[in-house]
Amino acid sequence: HHAQRSTVWVGQPGRQVPVGPDSFTLIAGPCAVESPEQTVEAARMAQSAGATILRGGAFKPRTSPYAFQGLGERGLEILASVREATGMPFVTEVVDSRDVELVASHADMLQIGTRHMANFGLLQAVGEAGKPVLLKRGMSATIEEWLMAAEYIAQRGLLDIVLCESGIRTFEPSTRNTLDLSSVPVVQATTHLPIIVDPSHSAGRKDLVVPLASGAIGVGADGIVVDVHPKPELALCDGPQALDGTELRDLAKAVRRLPPVL
Ligand code: PEP
Repeated sequence: HHAQRSTVWVGQPGRQVPVGPDSFTLIAGPCAVESPEQTVEAARMAQSAGATILRGGAFKPRTSPYAFQGLGERGLEILASVREATGMPFVTEVVDSRDVELVASHADMLQIGTRHMANFGLLQAVGEAGKPVLLKRGMSATIEEWLMAAEYIAQRGLLDIVLCESGIRTFEPSTRNTLDLSSVPVVQATTHLPIIVDPSHSAGRKDLVVPLASGAIGVGADGIVVDVHPKPELALCDGPQALDGTELRDLAKAVRRLPPVL
């Protein structure tokens, strides 16, 4: 813990973008990388709505082993080529410590997903990879456990960690997970690390993305990460929560209208 809240810089030297208390960061992109065309189109939609970081899954942790698992290394290459085309740094998930070196050789930021927050070997491996980390809250983790997961990374020397509230399991079935917005001010009172919110993966429903994003701003989050897809109805992964271009622009407008928390 430091007295001053930190900013984490993401991207290659000379083209870095901040995540922290002085700006509100919009991260957007497809849930999964499906093709070069789909990824570049999603990235351009994200960029025109004001997103500064592209998201996209190459290794997808799916509930069913029969569901689309992502394009793996090919997905990373597509993301790297879209970075060249758009100038946007990208964040992508790593699900296995054996893949950390490979993912870190392409990505600007490594994501640890909700299912892997307590995978301590993976946390230690990303802590040694030299790239900033987006650490999602485990769906059954307390805030204390989440912060201790961040300590596993920090202990390996990597302090560029952004926390991401992604919802927790409750008895409520109308959303995928219940978005615990109270974690934002609680975390900010405890740690200097930036914290953002994922309204897409927590709700699993696109109609809730704008209200939950507005709530995230209201409680003082440093940014949001949202799913966007050029054709959500054809998405190979999580289509019901993906915004199309118009919806993403509406979200960006709503976000801009809200005053920052003082
Ligand atoms: C994701 O962001 O692609 C993802 C799978 O999120 P979560 O870990 O929150 O399910």
